[in-house]
Amino acid sequence: MGNRTELEKLGEFGLIDHISKDFESHQPSTVKGIGDDAAVIDAGDKYMVVSTDMLVEGVHFNLMYAPLMHLGYKAVVVNLSDIYAMNADATQVTVSIAISNRFSVEAVAELYKGIKKACDLYKVDLVGGDTTSSHAGLIISVTAIGEVKKDEIVYRSGASENDLIVVSGDLGGAYMGLQVLEREKEVYKENPNIQPELEGFDYILERQLKPEARKDVIHFLKEMGVKPTSMIDVSDGLASELLHLSKASGLGLSIYDEKLPVDQETFNVARDFNITSSTAALNGGEDYELLFSIKQSDFDKIKDNKHFTVIGHFNDKNSVATIVERNGTIQEIKAQGWNHFNKD
Ligand code: ADP
Ligand code: MG
Repeated sequence: MGNRTELEKLGEFGLIDHISKDFESHQPSTVKGIGDDAAVIDAGDKYMVVSTDMLVEGVHFNLMYAPLMHLGYKAVVVNLSDIYAMNADATQVTVSIAISNRFSVEAVAELYKGIKKACDLYKVDLVGGDTTSSHAGLIISVTAIGEVKKDEIVYRSGASENDLIVVSGDLGGAYMGLQVLEREKEVYKENPNIQPELEGFDYILERQLKPEARKDVIHFLKEMGVKPTSMIDVSDGLASELLHLSKASGLGLSIYDEKLPVDQETFNVARDFNITSSTAALNGGEDYELLFSIKQSDFDKIKDNKHFTVIGHFNDKNSVATIVERNGTIQEIKAQGWNHFNKD
C-alpha cells in the first residue's frame, strides 16, 4: 500500500502548490498561471484575466440563513472581486451548478435572480456554464473573465521596499455578521418559536450575505492616476492576504493595528463576542475589499479619499510580515482561518 498523506497536513495553499508543481506552460500566450487572483492570458492588444471560485453548501454557506437570491449574487461578486484585484475590468461569467431534487424550479429561479442582479449591476454577461445533479449539497462554481490594458495589469508580486500598504473600505464586518447568524441559528435549533434577533446588525449582515466587489476602487485609482504596485482581494482575511503579497513580492512588511479600518457595528459586535475587532479584521475573511500597495510619491493623490486607509508599508527582503500592536509590541503575522481542511 502506498503512503497516505492527510490533506490537512498540506493545507489549502500547500495542496495547490503540490498539484501545480508538475505543470509547465505549453502556450506562449499564458502570461501568468497559478498563483495570483486570476490567470493572465495574452489576447493581442490586451490581457484577458480568468478566475474561478466555488461555493459549497455546508462549507461556504448555510441555506438556513443565506437566501438563495443573495447566494447567487454573492457567487458572482466573489469572482468579480478577483478580476478587480488584477486592476482589470470584469466582462463575462460562466455559472455551473450541482443541485439535488431537494430544490424546486422556483428555488433555482431565486438563485438566478441574484446572479442576474449581480450581472446587471457589474455589467457582466452570463455566457455559459454547466448544470448537473448533486447527491450532497448545492455547489455553485463561477468563472469570471475580464480584460485589462497590458500596462495596467497589477500582480501580487510587484511591491517595492517602502511602498505604502492601503486597504479599501473596512474589515471584519462579514466575519462578525457570520457570528451573529451562527448564534441565531443555534438559538433557533433549540427553540424554533424564538424569532432570530437580527435587528441592529444590518451592516455586518449585509457584509456577510450580500457583499460587493470593489469595481469602484479600480475606477477611483484610474481617475487619480494611481497604479498600485501590487494588489490582492481580501477573501481569506487580511493576515492571509498580507502574507501572499509579502511572499509574492519577496519583501517583509509592517502594518499598524491602530490603523486597521473597522466599522462601529463590527467593533461593537466583536466586543460582545469577546474578540478584538482587529482579530476579526485579520483572520475573519470574506470582506472582498482590495488590499494594495502604492509608491510613496502617490500618497498625496489618495490621502483624501475616504475609501482608502494606509495601514502600513513594505520593508526590505530580509524581514518578515509584522503587525505593530497598539502597545508598541511587534508580532509576526501568522495566517489563521485559511485552512479549510481542518475547519469544522
Ligand atoms: P483566491 O483566494 O484569490 O480565489 P486561491 O487561493 O483560491 O485564490 O487560489 C490561488 C491560486 O491557485 C490561483 O491562481 C488559483 O487559480 C489556483 N488554484 C486553486 N485551486 C486550484 C486547483 N485545484 N488546480 C489548479 N489551480 C488552482
Ligand atoms: Mg483573490
